[in-house]
Amino acid sequence: MFVRGELEKIEHKVLKGERLTRGDGEKLFACNELSWMGALADYVRKKICGDAVYYNVNCHVNLTNICKSRCKFCAFGRNVDDGGAYAMTIDDAIKLVEEASRDPHLSGLHIVSGLHPTWTFENYLAFVEVLHKKFPALHIKGFTGVEIQHFANISGLSVEEVLIRLKTAGLQAIAGGGAEILTDRVRNLLCPKKATAAEWLNVARTAHKLGIKTNASMLYGHIETLSERVEHLIRLRELQDETGGFQTFICFPFLPKNTALEKEIKQTSMWDDLKTMAISRLMLDNFRNIKAYWVMLTVPVAQVALSFGANDIDGTIHRENILHDAGATSPRSLAEDEIIKIIREAGRIPCAIGGNK
Ligand code: SF4
Repeated sequence: MFVRGELEKIEHKVLKGERLTRGDGEKLFACNELSWMGALADYVRKKICGDAVYYNVNCHVNLTNICKSRCKFCAFGRNVDDGGAYAMTIDDAIKLVEEASRDPHLSGLHIVSGLHPTWTFENYLAFVEVLHKKFPALHIKGFTGVEIQHFANISGLSVEEVLIRLKTAGLQAIAGGGAEILTDRVRNLLCPKKATAAEWLNVARTAHKLGIKTNASMLYGHIETLSERVEHLIRLRELQDETGGFQTFICFPFLPKNTALEKEIKQTSMWDDLKTMAISRLMLDNFRNIKAYWVMLTVPVAQVALSFGANDIDGTIHRENILHDAGATSPRSLAEDEIIKIIREAGRIPCAIGGNK
């Protein structure tokens, strides 16, 4: 039960710039004073990063959906002989990026894929090498901590060696996915075949040590408890204290359609999405950028989320696949004009970034 005195104590701490505790985070999740929470998160957002809202003109490249992990929350992964399974060739990837490059503002690639059971690390590396050589002006953000750990497992190289080879090939940053909820209980139930919480954090820590920026995310609204959401945010905050290498945090609400959890779990409400966005901003006091990912939130909710702590709305994407397999109802891409309009309508300043964060 949330009482007003506790709410005032939290507000006082935020206004004084004091760090919120685990207990504060749990109290916030127990509280339904949504407009108050949004205003507080908006205050922090404005103090940390002003009124600019970042976006980029980017292209998602999903090399393959064939994946040996088959996480219960994922509608994208397939077995080799499943209908709809695909694996791109290097020529396919070049063709996709050439098509996206017709937009002269294209600035970055976002490459994430399944854990293909027979591809080697060299197979994945070759895509980065070729795309970087052919499109040197594009910033390449590629692979999640889960994929990097998988590359280490299948190659016998250390995580550090994998990262050095990817960086040499042209990789500039690492994607934030694969974090899901960073507790062993949740991962053992949902995705036992992929990187553990400690492994995911170790990939991020190692990347930061090598000067490679990474993003972080949270997939919420499935089997996790609200305390586990807080635990997840605290683990990210602790690592950010240690390295300062996270660029952006992204909240991903779970989309159940076509997943193994479809019958058991309902999609999160807008209320939960906005509350989680605001709490993320308040708990992650050492993250500058909090992203409202319009594909998962939908465009209208992402726009409102700009008043709940978010200062980033992702990019044009070109053609989204992963979340549309899970029933995302948002468009597969957005025109740059549309993104600018969404940001301006929210009273904020659109700010295109050259790199792909
Ligand atoms: S979430 Fe990633 S690792 Fe898990 S099944 Fe989907 S593609 Fe594979």
